[in-house]
Amino acid sequence: MLNIVLFGPPGAGKGTQAEMLVTKYNLCHLSTGDVFRYNIKNETELGVLAKGFMDQGKLVPDEVTIKLLISEVEKNPQAEGFIFDGFPRTTPQAEALDKILTERGTSINMMIALDVEKAELTERLKNRALSSGRADDADPEIIENRIKVYMDETFPLKEFYDQQGKFIKVNGHGTIEDITARLFETIDLALA
Ligand code: AMP
Repeated sequence: MLNIVLFGPPGAGKGTQAEMLVTKYNLCHLSTGDVFRYNIKNETELGVLAKGFMDQGKLVPDEVTIKLLISEVEKNPQAEGFIFDGFPRTTPQAEALDKILTERGTSINMMIALDVEKAELTERLKNRALSSGRADDADPEIIENRIKVYMDETFPLKEFYDQQGKFIKVNGHGTIEDITARLFETIDLALA
């Protein structure tokens, strides 16, 4: 199995690039943000709960998010591997992910961090707001909060994966195609 954590701040291009990796490496794309948005759209109990946090640019509590992740992994027993997009975002989530995968006889192969400067992130999120309809993209204060939450709670995960020799940084600037090509090259090299 090939299991990749795609890491990076909001607006780094994780969702877009995850789609490219899914096709090339035949992986199952697991985005906790997408699952939360699906639940919000369908007005489920989970959706109502998640919306309260997401609309403020805060993280949904670990307990809820980890449970959701486990159920998504369980829904895909035939998967040849996963690309985790937007998960883990905290150390307890990363520990839970290791446990879930170990129980299934597999593990994370690599964590790829898309490296993008802050000014570029804010610009991308503002542009995305025009088409995504996402409330958390539309408000500069919420964007600022999401980037801060990323720096405080998620960025330290770099160490978690670095200590396991699994952290790889990729330049996230340029065209979508440029970045995809860099990712393919990086993954192929890591697997060689
Ligand atoms: P994303 O689509 O990954 O940008 O996520 C959008 C929002 O969903 C985040 O700002 C959080 O409020 C929530 N969210 C997504 N994934 C997680 C996670 N792993 N842990 C906590 N909250 C999450």
